[in-house]
Formats: sequence, C-alpha cells, structure tokens
Amino acid sequence: MSITLSIIYLIATVTFVVGLKMLGHPETAKKGNLISALGMGLAIVGTIFLAEKEVPLIIYILIGLALAVGGIIGWIIAIKVEMTKMPELVSLFNGFGGASALLIGLVEFNKNIGVPIADKASASIITTIIAAIIIGSITFTGSLVAWAKLNGSLKDIRFPKYNLINNILFIGLVAFGTYIVLMNTDSAILMYSLLAASLVYGFLFVVPIGGADMPVVISLLNSLTGIAAAITGILYDNMVMLVGGILVGSAGLILTFAMCKAMNRSLASVIFGAFGAGSNAAEGSGGTIGGTVKKTTASDSAVLLNYSSKVVIVPGYGLAVAQAQHVIHELEELLTSRGVDVKYAIHPVAGRMPGHMNVLLAESNVDYGKLIEMDDINPQFPNTDVVLVVGANDVVNPAAHNDPSSPIYGMPILDVENAKHIIVNKRSMKPGYAGIENELFYNQKTNMLFGDAKQALTDLVAELKNM
Ligand code: NDP
Repeated sequence: MSITLSIIYLIATVTFVVGLKMLGHPETAKKGNLISALGMGLAIVGTIFLAEKEVPLIIYILIGLALAVGGIIGWIIAIKVEMTKMPELVSLFNGFGGASALLIGLVEFNKNIGVPIADKASASIITTIIAAIIIGSITFTGSLVAWAKLNGSLKDIRFPKYNLINNILFIGLVAFGTYIVLMNTDSAILMYSLLAASLVYGFLFVVPIGGADMPVVISLLNSLTGIAAAITGILYDNMVMLVGGILVGSAGLILTFAMCKAMNRSLASVIFGAFGAGSNAAEGSGGTIGGTVKKTTASDSAVLLNYSSKVVIVPGYGLAVAQAQHVIHELEELLTSRGVDVKYAIHPVAGRMPGHMNVLLAESNVDYGKLIEMDDINPQFPNTDVVLVVGANDVVNPAAHNDPSSPIYGMPILDVENAKHIIVNKRSMKPGYAGIENELFYNQKTNMLFGDAKQALTDLVAELKNM
C-alpha cells in the first residue's frame, strides 16, 4: 500500500472516531455525520485512484457507474424518508452491508475454485471468507425480515419448537463452516449450500422476534453488519474497513445492551423470548381493561394547563406521525411566557428509534435543557400539576409495574400516573406498538383529548391565546 493511501486511511479513521463522538449530542450530531461521511468519501476515492495494480479503464467506468447509481438512489431515499420510517431504512442499509460482505466472501472463494486452497490461501484467509459469508448472509436476510416486519408487510411467525430448530441450525452452520475450512475444500456446491443455510438461518432468527423487541434486533443486526465489514477488512488487509467495521460493530453492540437495559430485557430473552407470546398482547384493538374513560376538550385542557405551575410534556411516536413538533414547541413557549415551568420527559425507547424524540424536538428548536431523561424526570412527577402525553402509549403504560403477565412487565416507564392531572392526546383507544392495552387511560386523574396530535395541539394553542 502506498504511503499516501496509508495517510488517507489514517485521516479517514480519525474522522470516523471524531464523527462518532460528535453524534453523541444533538448539537454536534449533524456536523459529526458530515465529518465521518467526508472521511468515508476520501477513503473511497483514495482506494479507487491509488490502487497498486494497473486497473483497466473499463473497471473505472463500472465503479463510476455503480457509485453514481447507488449514490443517487441513496440520496433520494435519504432525502425523502420520513422520520418515522428511519428504522426501516436503517434495516435496509444493514441488509445491504451484509449483502456486500457475503458477495466479497463469494468472490474471494470463487478465486480459489479449481485450485486447492492450501496452494492459494492460508487457513486463516479461508476462515475469514467463510465468516464473511455466514455473517453477511444472516445479516442480509435478517435485516430484510426486520424491514418487512417494521413496515407491517410481515407478521411474527413462530414455528413449533422454533428456538430449538434455530439453535440446532446455528450450531450446524458453525460446524459446516469449520468442516469447509478443515477439509481445505474448494467445492462450490458446499459453499453455496453453506450460503443457502445461512440465508435461511437469518430469516428464521428474526421472524419470531416481535413487538417492542424489534429495535434491539435491528441494533444487533447493525452490529453484525459492522463485524461483517471488519472481517472483509481483514480479508483485504484494509485498515479503514477494519476500523470502520469495528466501530459500527461495537457501537451497535453498546446500543443493543443500552436498549435491553431501557426495556429491562436480557439479550437472551429478546432473541429466544418471543415478545408478546402467551401474554396479554392485544393485537391491535383495545377494550378488555374496562372502566370509565373521561373525555376532555381543547378548551378545558387549556384552562388546566394555563393555571398550572409545572407541566411535563411526554412526546411519543404519535407526535412524530402527526408532525406536531413545531406546534408543541409553540405550546411550550406560550405556557412558559405565562410563567408555567414546562419540561419534556424523554423515554429512551419513545418513538421508533433511539433518540427519536430528541431529534424530532431539535427540528423545532426546542431547548435541549428542557429535555429531561426518564431517570431524572420520574422523581419530579409527584410535584407536577399536569402531564400532557402526546401520541405516547407503551412508554407510559403502568402495566410495566403492575401486571406480571404483561409483555412489557419490568420495562422502566415514565411514571406519569404520579402527577396531579394527566391529559392524554391520541386518536382512539387503540394500543401502541407493543399491542397491549393501557390502564392509564382509565385512571381517575386522566382526561383523554382525542384527535390527531397536530390538530389537537393547534386547538389547544388557539384556546390558550384566547385566555
Ligand atoms: P406507542 O407506539 O406505544 O404509541 C403511540 C401512540 O400514538 C399510539 O397509541 C397511537 O394511538 C398514537 N398516535 C398515532 N398517530 C397519532 C396521531 N397522528 N396523533 C395522535 N396520536 C397518534 O409509542 P411510544 O412512543 O409510547 O412507545 C414506543 C414503542 O415503540 C415502544 O413499545 C418501543 O419499545 C417501541 N419501539 C421503539 C423503538 C426505539 O428504538 N425507540 C423502535 C421500535 C419500536 P392512536 O392510534 O389511538 O392515535
């Protein structure tokens, strides 16, 4: 490798680390993303133009075409994607990362076909190839299944004894891969059988996992994509692929465990536990808790809010769907101008991806100092006059504390039921993402403000302005 290319790779590596660090805060996140992307761009250009071997012109043309087509499609998708569809997009990107790793593995294996591997590659290289194929394939089909489940086109499928079958298949895959390495075989049939089995395992691994466990799985798959990229980095002795892969792999793993902690679930129970199975998950409809639901109006809610001294807003997925982040900021400013202390309570898995609410509220320039994390806001609810829950459901469901049969039992929640008054805005009594009912809506202190969040908040603001 030329010294110039080594320096370029070093610069790119530094941009990844710096960019990743800057992603940790909403104020610096955009810049951090840009810095890492520039580093990646530099590494790609360096790799293409500073290759050691003579490269025919046609290869440059093909690479240029691939970059143009991929770049344009990626750009359009990223510009158009709605915030609520971001996890689906991340899943797709994960899947393509896995597909790249498996294709690289196949290309490298095919180079050895017809020639005994011992002559061409060491056992460590063939081990790397096999690992790239297995991990890349699992990530590819697993991510496509996650994407299909998130967009609702695929439901959870649980075959009888699926855990046992999956575990046997996984052990079989590892044994099969080890056999190929140890036997030094260059058999294409064996390699494609391994590929097919890995693709099937990726499908079977993700398809039974359901409900609120999906974000954890996506994060795990993200981590696997990083590991697959790191493995291909080893294959090509390419430092920037290796470091980039390790960073994605470790960041994904840290996020996986952070989300498991936020939902009080172990990684094993996410993978083997089948969220919602055998519990009271209500599959899309409400109505078995019983009790009285008190409806309220925008004008009554405005009065309650106006005469409070402390208000906590709990944003959830519905706020994002309704794109009500600007009007909620207007409401917050209006109340603050009347001397009300207003804060936002941020649950770590509110919305459809980690940090979803922070990013959404940052879009409407909400002061970061007003966004209070769950552990810090929970002790403040008893002194809160009104909690305004907007399009949030699972993250305020007391079943997490009270109902051992609930699939979210044990998940830390925002303890809004401790506040003096609760206003919940949503469109109906339907459950949220986890598909379970919420007894909070039947609480004596709760008033339901039914309607689309944007419309309901606009009405609230109008009523407040008239007071
Ligand atoms: P939920 O999905 O539990 O609830 C959202 C609520 O918003 C629904 O009950 C819905 O009720 C309401 N809603 C939808 N559209 C509108 C609208 N236009 N106006 C007003 N309300 C609306 O969201 P939470 O944020 O409370 O909880 C997040 C859930 O998602 C958790 O289960 C979490 O585990 C899971 N999850 C989290 C991810 C993450 O990484 N953060 C990723 C994927 C899932 P209605 O239909 O009656 O209006």
